[in-house]
Amino acid sequence: MVQNSTCPAYVSWRTDGMMMGMPVFAQRLIGDGLITLWLSSTPEPCDALPCAECRFFTRSMHMKPSTPSPMTNHLIDSLPLKDRASFLADCEVIDLAFGEVISEPGGQVTHVYFPLDSFISLIESLGEREQLEVAMVGSEGMLGMSLILELDESPLRALVQGAGSALRMPAAALGRHLAQCPALQALLRRYLYVLIHQLTRVAACTHFHQVEARLARWLPMTQDRAHSDQLHLTHEFLAMMLGVRRAGITHGAMALQGHGLISYHRGDITVLDRAGLIEASCGCYAADRSIYRRVITEGGAP
Ligand SMILES: [Zn+2]
Repeated sequence: MVQNSTCPAYVSWRTDGMMMGMPVFAQRLIGDGLITLWLSSTPEPCDALPCAECRFFTRSMHMKPSTPSPMTNHLIDSLPLKDRASFLADCEVIDLAFGEVISEPGGQVTHVYFPLDSFISLIESLGEREQLEVAMVGSEGMLGMSLILELDESPLRALVQGAGSALRMPAAALGRHLAQCPALQALLRRYLYVLIHQLTRVAACTHFHQVEARLARWLPMTQDRAHSDQLHLTHEFLAMMLGVRRAGITHGAMALQGHGLISYHRGDITVLDRAGLIEASCGCYAADRSIYRRVITEGGAP
């Protein structure tokens, strides 16, 4: 893609190892009209570049601070620059379709996934109708965490709930990177802690908190990962996710709509008042956000 080795930015990226694997992502994202992924952290962006391709990249580097793109994964973004480029070189960008089942309980984990604008529900199933979403993975996380424990077995069903893109890496490649990169090991161990917190919090939330408050928690949680105020979610699907009867969802959604927090029509939900929705939630949304910020974003001790 970028062939002109006299270009200052090109030389800079090569010096920092940033070109390794980069053209694959850049090409794909340019094709989709999304150009800010991964390139923002390239050091010393240049304004006077001799080739059209590089001018394109330079613009993308300058756009990132004022125009954050949802097309990123926070875990990968958190890796040190020197490790991120080689990590990305072993990833491929894939599309995930709504309703796609990535793994079943007991199935082999052959890849890990880093959602970009897609998101995935982790579901515990006790029977055909007894299903409960116990965690959600979006652009803040990774699917396939059992590999961190050196187990290649999936404990839960992983169902794509929000269609979109993800980065996918083979399990063997993740193992190589874990062996070579202490920062990656530390980061994913921290994320495992956050995920365990989410799983246990859901157990307590489901038992102790009311449906309306749980729905008010679940909607901004989904909104964060969908990167959109518009969600398409049927009563049946919501009932399955929250492990309640459809009538409970109807009552909860009507109450939230009555308070002017959402509008709901035939499965199309629009979040009208996000702050109000969080205020009406059970507190578990704030708890999830807080622990992620402390353990992952700020990197403090769990
Ligand atoms: Zn709760």
